[in-house]
Parts: sequence; C-alpha cells; structure tokens
Amino acid sequence: MPFALALLLALPALARAWDGHAALTWAALSGEPAVAAAAPTVAEPVEAFLAAEGEGLAALLEAEEAWARAHVPRYPPRPEALRFDPRGDPATARVRFLEALRVNPALPLTPHVQELPGQAGGGRPELAWPSVGTLPTPPHPGRLVFRALRAGEPVPPLEVVASASDEPDHGLDVGLFEDSGTPFGARYGYGKAPFGDPRLPFATQAPFHMGFFHEARLLTLLAPALARTFPEVRLHAFASLARFAFARGHAYWGWRFLGFGLHYAQDLTQPYHATVSPGTSALELAAVSALDAAGVHGPRQRRLERLSDLHLALEAEQGEGVWRALAAGDGADPLLAALRDRSRDAALGPYDDAAPRARLSAVANGKAARTAAALEAALAPGAPPARRAALEAVLADLLRDCGAATRSYARAALEPRPAS
Ligand SMILES: [Zn+2]
Repeated sequence: MPFALALLLALPALARAWDGHAALTWAALSGEPAVAAAAPTVAEPVEAFLAAEGEGLAALLEAEEAWARAHVPRYPPRPEALRFDPRGDPATARVRFLEALRVNPALPLTPHVQELPGQAGGGRPELAWPSVGTLPTPPHPGRLVFRALRAGEPVPPLEVVASASDEPDHGLDVGLFEDSGTPFGARYGYGKAPFGDPRLPFATQAPFHMGFFHEARLLTLLAPALARTFPEVRLHAFASLARFAFARGHAYWGWRFLGFGLHYAQDLTQPYHATVSPGTSALELAAVSALDAAGVHGPRQRRLERLSDLHLALEAEQGEGVWRALAAGDGADPLLAALRDRSRDAALGPYDDAAPRARLSAVANGKAARTAAALEAALAPGAPPARRAALEAVLADLLRDCGAATRSYARAALEPRPAS
C-alpha cells in the first residue's frame, strides 16, 4: 500500500456529521407551509404500500439504477439478482425492496415518529429500539423516544419528515460492503469499504454520508478510494421514491422517503463530511504519512486524534445546543433561528442533480478550514469566552446553510405538490 494511503483512508468515518437530524429538520421546515401547514397524513404499513405499488416501484428502481450508472462517477452497478420482483412472495417484500435499494435489509420501516424535546407523546405507545433501527443501540441511548403509529392513524407531515430524516443514522447504510462481515454486504456488489475501519459497524455507513468532491489533486492521487462516496445515489433515489409515493396517493411514504433523502443533503453541509481533513493541507497529510511509514508514528497519531476530537466537538456543540433550545422552547435561540433563516434559500437555488457536488458540499468544503480554526481556538485550554462566541457564530453560519439545503431538497421532492 502506498505510504499515504494508511493515513488518508483512516481519516474519515469518525463520527456522525450532524447530530440529531430530526431536530434540524423540524426547525428548518417549521416555517415552510408546504410541509408545516400540510394536511395530516395517514400512517400506512410498508407491506400495504409495497403490495399496492409493486409494479410501479419495480420500474422506478430500474430507472434509478440506470440513472446512477449514467451519472454517478465510480458507481458500482447493482447485480441483476437484486432486481425487485413485484410478483415475489409478499411476506418477503420489505426485505426484497430494501435489497433492491442496496440498503440494510433489517431496517424494520415501522410507522413511527421520534419525539422531540418539548413535544408530548400524544398518547401513542412507545416503540422499542429494535422496531426502529438496526444498530445495537439508538444514537443517544436513554434520550431518544420513539412512538408507534397505528395503521390509519393521522399524523402531521412535519413529524413524519423530521423523524424520518434521522433514520439513515439508525443503520440504513451499515454493513453494506463486501468486507463488512454481513451476508447482504457479500451480495450487494459495492466492493470493499473505500475508507474507515470495516470492523466498526457505524463507520461502514460513511461512504454514503460523505462527499469528498473538492479535495486537492495530490490527495486523490495518493488515495483514489476517497472518491468512492455515494450520497448522490441516496439523494436521487429517495427524492424519486417520495415523488412516486405522493403521485400514487401514499402521502405517508412520500413524507417518509422525503425525510430519508433530507438526511444526506444535510450531511453534505457539514464541513467534516465534505472535506477529508479540514484545516490540514494535502502536503502536511502526505508528510506525516511518510514519517509514519519511516517509523515515526507520533505526528500521524496526533493528527488523527485531533481530527477526531474537533469533528466530535462540532457535532456535540450543534447537537446539544439545538436539543437544549428545543427543550427550553427558546424560539429566539441563534441556532434554531439560523436553521429557520431563509436569507440563503434564493442563492442556493432549486435542488437538482448538480447540487450535491456544485453547491452543498462545495459551500461546506469552502468553510472547512475556518471551522477547524474556530474549533481549535475555542477548545484550547484557558480559551477566553470570546472564542466560544466565535465558534457559536461559525456553527450558526453552517446551520444557515443546512436549513437552506433542507428547504431546497424538500421543495424539489414536493414538486408537483402532492394531493393531500
Ligand atoms: Zn449521516
């Protein structure tokens, strides 16, 4: 293995990007009439949706495969055996549908909502984690509460979308590679995980939640596997599924798929998901890798630890800040205000196939060095309060982008408007 690969490929896949997508989506769309003022939708079990729309879904999945092959660089084609058969056994329809999408087939897809701080449960029964996600534990064990929806139960679309936008962090993209040690990973045809530790279940989702589209040429020359990231596949498929479900009169699944897709749009606005190592030059990365290969391991180890610390610090600052503000019902909180702020919506423009590379990740990548510097300064021992305030301002700036990306993607998926 070339000397630089060992370092570069260990870099990403350390954390979750944004923490608590349900809260981000809730805030970003709370002032969007097409979602917040939409008529209640009616919960529908996935089996009923698949039984009613199997033929159309099979055609849609074929069209998605053709689109990905034509438009996504380095896209690993889906093996023919995974094609969705609408005439297959209804008892296995959910698993076969998820396999045709090449996501984790154990995802239960139970109709549910995630309760946000300040929301009452509405008398809905609590749903245990194994009926929600495939990971051993939820993202915040003991904090997140999931509530089951009965078939036919009316539910506000904003609750469905917000809740669904957290689901890609519940195991949807875990274990998909051939070296992930799962039976489906062995059949999916994605090849070996491009980066991250294949033994850490959570790290295996990273190539679907990150997009390193704007790295220095030196970096991609030394580690071409960094270019094997596929958020565009998910973004396109879930927008198509949402439009299809709305058009066919299954609005619940329209909102749910829209939420799935929003997750990936939001992840690309996180500088640590749009940049391999924010604030570090390609030359410096190559240098510490060369030292490591020569037996001097300290600089590489310190670089990795620092990167991990800063990434996790940003995630914690955002996750805790937004959660606290929602719990306090503080609508004037700067982070919530940033998520609602529409001042960048026009500049971001309507979401299209070029958006993930040309706009969402490009903006986040452009802010990566500044973000890393603000984190370094604020986390330094004895840092004065002003540095903390500066970090909060950087975070609010990033969440302004995240809110705009959320509305841009949602508007595109809701076009044409669904029949209520
Ligand atoms: Zn993610």
